[in-house]
Amino acid sequence: MGMRRRIVAGNWKMNGSKDLVQQLVAPIREQAECLGSGAEVVIIPPALYVDAVQADAGALAVGVQNVSEWQSGAYTGEISAEMARDMGCQYVLVGHSERRQLFGETDEMVAAKVEQVLKAGLTAVLCVGETLAQREAGDAERVVAAQVLLGLARVDAACWSQVVVAYEPVWAIGSGRTATAGDAQAMHAEIRNVLSSMKAPSDRISVLYGGSVKADNAAALFSEPDIDGGLIGGASLSADEFVSICRALPANT
Ligand code: PEP
Repeated sequence: MGMRRRIVAGNWKMNGSKDLVQQLVAPIREQAECLGSGAEVVIIPPALYVDAVQADAGALAVGVQNVSEWQSGAYTGEISAEMARDMGCQYVLVGHSERRQLFGETDEMVAAKVEQVLKAGLTAVLCVGETLAQREAGDAERVVAAQVLLGLARVDAACWSQVVVAYEPVWAIGSGRTATAGDAQAMHAEIRNVLSSMKAPSDRISVLYGGSVKADNAAALFSEPDIDGGLIGGASLSADEFVSICRALPANT
């Protein structure tokens, strides 16, 4: 357990403003400084605000929510992984369910984005998760395993230290419904099995849970042996709530 980074990452989605950056970042930074070593707190604002967040971030890490599958060039409106690196980001979300569902991201595109992120020297947070229909059909494990295998298909053996997986059941995102700690743990263990089958050092890859994590359910989730932290949407827009979630990370062993 002590081998893996413990991470709480806040995905602001398409929310925020310069004012919100001022309200949130400094208080989170101050509290995060008390968390001790081994816990990483990541702020993932809309890309336009990365620079403003960086200015206040101190030891907080910063990320972006998406990058292009291409390296550079005539792709109007896109931003590259290299640009995220240039602006001081360390993390990139790849394949968030909203990207897959609303913007048609396929596993092939996700794999290309992961490749760009790793090539830029950043950490890719590959988001995976089943829909409610898939879970009810008994397909959850198969769907998630396929997303992991295909999304990470292009990872070189030397780059696994730049990979984090976030298990986010689609039915739990923004819905107020969370997987039980036991169900989440079972899927996290399965994800680790899939990573092992890919010859990845699965005991060293952080696997985060996401989907309606709040201050009052975070501790139960984070105390499961294969849950290394959380990817937080709605609750990352409140400094108090987000800091409480960060505090629910168990001390590093
Ligand atoms: C997310 O967007 O990654 C997420 C987990 O959202 P929420 O916490 O709002 O369910």
